Amino acid sequence: MLCLEVERIKKTPREFRLEGDRAWWERVREALREPEVELSRPFVFSFRAHRIGMRLLFRGEVDGLVGLVCGRCLEPYGYEFREPVQLLLEPVPAGTVIPDGGLELDPEDLEIGRYGGDVLDFDPLVREVLALDWPVQPRCDEGCKGLCSVCGCNRNHESCVCSDQSVSRPFARLGELIEEASTGDPDRRKR
Ligand SMILES: [Zn+2]
Ligand SMILES: [Zn+2]
Repeated sequence: MLCLEVERIKKTPREFRLEGDRAWWERVREALREPEVELSRPFVFSFRAHRIGMRLLFRGEVDGLVGLVCGRCLEPYGYEFREPVQLLLEPVPAGTVIPDGGLELDPEDLEIGRYGGDVLDFDPLVREVLALDWPVQPRCDEGCKGLCSVCGCNRNHESCVCSDQSVSRPFARLGELIEEASTGDPDRRKR
């Protein structure tokens, strides 16, 4: 779990390593609306922590490896997360309600937060890091050439001549005709 007892954080910096387990990942991938995505390597929050008076300071990184599918060539590939994390926690003011999981991040600035109680649950922090770093358009490689729109071959591995011969694209014209029929405007495709 991604929990740490507050009393383990001392004046002298110490190293910690918290790992999100399978059950945690199941919840996170639901929240990310990526229910199919499997872990190739679990997410780990590894960091150095110490205290200055009542303030707690953390510096480290979140890393993990998931299996995604490239949006261009449709091949599975491993996406590695590795995000630096810095966090400064102040105690909640006396008489204030202790946040869920003992930790509340500043909505404006993920590097600041408040804590209360005996145990810190870093789940909200790691989730935020993941959500921010999650690829909007997964790519196996920045230079992925994708699939040929005519013959469907993976252009990263195979070469074809389709793109050089527009006359041999049997379905290209069909697509235009369907669009004309559905819009009723033959000039629309020329925009
Ligand atoms: Zn690709
Ligand atoms: Zn082709």
